[in-house]
Amino acid sequence: MITCTDICKSYGSLQVLHQVTLEIPEKKVVCITGPSGAGKSTLLHILGTLDKPDSGQVLIHHENVFQLKDKQLAAFRNRNIGFVFQFHHLLPEFSAIENVCLPAFLGKMPIEATKQKAARLLAQLGLENRAQHRPSELSGGEQQRVAVARALINDPLVVMADEPTGNLDTARSEELHQIFFDLRDELGQTFVIVTHNELLAQQADIHFRMKDGRLL
Ligand code: ADP
Repeated sequence: MITCTDICKSYGSLQVLHQVTLEIPEKKVVCITGPSGAGKSTLLHILGTLDKPDSGQVLIHHENVFQLKDKQLAAFRNRNIGFVFQFHHLLPEFSAIENVCLPAFLGKMPIEATKQKAARLLAQLGLENRAQHRPSELSGGEQQRVAVARALINDPLVVMADEPTGNLDTARSEELHQIFFDLRDELGQTFVIVTHNELLAQQADIHFRMKDGRLL
């Protein structure tokens, strides 16, 4: 579903990615692990179209994404890629359900249908009683589940997650991991997850290891 070919990326004189080639099939949980500085986040940002490679190409569902114009690429990203980061980046002045709705509103989806869908997603993630709470009124694990619901609101082709449980204790991490596998099974959702969590990497359908900007 994602084909990434010969990706190179440098920051100044530092080459961070060396001809990275990989394939991400749909309906799988894919993990990328490796030491700090290996280039995992840079690769994830490129796969998520947030950052451009110096050379190489990324096809997402047959779309050669870096050939799109900036505006088209932004629309493609909003429609097809969900993101979950270590620090959830929820907007503090909005309720949980409003945060979940935002990517759909940005994509000009209908308001009432979006609200209903956001409520369904929150319920699916065990947050039906938290929909009207602001992020500051939620635990870390709850905030991260809101971020997952937000990532799913546009039925993305793929969810990209960068250390999604990096900030959670072991029990909350395992809960979130189980949610990823349940969403794979129930919705056929594809996940690409950068993690230091070995347990998650072992359970993943596909596990890529990186070192010094290369896949091992
Ligand atoms: P990882 O996610 O595996 O820890 P990163 O992809 O974050 O690795 O970083 C790989 C290397 O690229 C590191 O040496 C980091 O300092 C460098 N790097 C990442 N982003 C930038 C940037 N925007 N500017 C300069 N150097 C960067």
